[in-house]
Amino acid sequence: MSVIRVRFAPSPTGYLHIGGLRTALYCYLFARSQGGKLVLRIEDTDRTRFVKDAEDDIVQNLAWCGLDVDESPMLGGPFAPYRQSERQNLYRKHAESLVDSGHAYYAFDSSDSIAELRKRNKAYDASTRLQMDNSLTHPKEVVSMRLESGEEYVVRLCVPEDVTIQFDDLIKGAVKVDSANIDDQVLVKSDGMPTYHLANVVDDHHMAITHVIRGDEWIPSTPKHILLYQAFGWQPPAMAHLPLILSPTGGKLSKRSAQRQGIPINVSDYLSKGYEPQAVINFLALLGWNPGTEDEVFTLEELVSTFSLGRVGSAPAKFDLDKLNWFNAQHLRRLDIEVLLERVRPFLEEHGIAVQDAYIRKVCLLVHDRLQHAKDLATNFSYCFADPVTFDPKGVKKRWKSDAASLVNDYSTRLDALTSFSEDALEFELRDLAASRKVGAGRIIHPVRLAVSGTTAGPGLFALLRVLGQRTCVRRLRNAVTKLG
Ligand code: GLU
Repeated sequence: MSVIRVRFAPSPTGYLHIGGLRTALYCYLFARSQGGKLVLRIEDTDRTRFVKDAEDDIVQNLAWCGLDVDESPMLGGPFAPYRQSERQNLYRKHAESLVDSGHAYYAFDSSDSIAELRKRNKAYDASTRLQMDNSLTHPKEVVSMRLESGEEYVVRLCVPEDVTIQFDDLIKGAVKVDSANIDDQVLVKSDGMPTYHLANVVDDHHMAITHVIRGDEWIPSTPKHILLYQAFGWQPPAMAHLPLILSPTGGKLSKRSAQRQGIPINVSDYLSKGYEPQAVINFLALLGWNPGTEDEVFTLEELVSTFSLGRVGSAPAKFDLDKLNWFNAQHLRRLDIEVLLERVRPFLEEHGIAVQDAYIRKVCLLVHDRLQHAKDLATNFSYCFADPVTFDPKGVKKRWKSDAASLVNDYSTRLDALTSFSEDALEFELRDLAASRKVGAGRIIHPVRLAVSGTTAGPGLFALLRVLGQRTCVRRLRNAVTKLG
């Protein structure tokens, strides 16, 4: 059996977005699960929309997510070059061969005459092409002369009349399109550049691609590609079109709808917001595919061993930011503490928090399973690094009763006198104080937490006090007594 070869073929017309990453991921999972090869091909033939650093962004973000490829513009490979702008001769040669075999023609039409055709509500197709200014309507010598004189032209595909174009999509099933609905596609533009259709088909064939996996939005292009394969006499690769990604409120997830709903669209935004790459990957894997079990949390390796195209659904999948955040918490929890330390450090620095690694490590251990994002340590747990300046007013109302100041004050005196600041000692002192003052332990636990953290929720109190340390605890308890009275 031939080796499975899959390509991810982004156009560098913008930065890698979350939908593009989902396509790259499915290409990766399929290639890896089949022991095949993954190719990164840069489709940069549209020079008007070219974005200079988009290719770097694509490469860096794939690497951030751990999606390594086997062949690419940087790595090279047996079918190099992997940038379409460097393969123009190949496309030109193939366009000419199509003209020679009668499957394509040179068209000299002015934009006015095409506009006129459209105004008459006509397509540039089999029924109209003989009324237009092209190589089918002039003698050969005239055409050669016009080409040689440097006149502008495009090459168009001669779409056959009255045929049904059909392909079996691995996800959508049978797709049929009537050729009457397809214009004579431009294959080579007037600037000499191939269009997406020509370059894509020529490259998929020459790069020995066996499976085309791409977004749903490319379905309308596929019948045109099938026609091209037929015209060249080539076997088309298997096709798999991934389900649409919907925004949380329905409708296609677009740059605009994402922005409106606070969804980061570029992959690099997820990195800068402190998302775990494994969480993003896990979330995207389930946006269209399901493992057929109740399992939800997967590493990339686990996904490779579980993934199959057969379990990719055709129904659109809804983007759910809460679910992504949930995955992020799950994957943060699985991180080694040293890795977590690396993740939280930039956010601490951003918040001007400068403390020693040994202390950050202790705080990480304390709140590891309460973090949803790496940035949470610097924001939700800022009290681990600085005395609280405010106290949650609702918490004060509920927890700071009339005897709170005196209980907290007594507890601070006991803590000050401790020679071992262990959790056991901290708990013993609190319960002993409660017993001697004839109150329940909660009567002291809650105001103490409020005093040291300014909030009413958080990690286990005695563990928190131990991490904060004796001097800090005593100082904070006394400050709170003064401030809250
Ligand atoms: N260059 C196209 C894109 O930007 C590739 C589509 C395909 O995979 O055929 O998505």
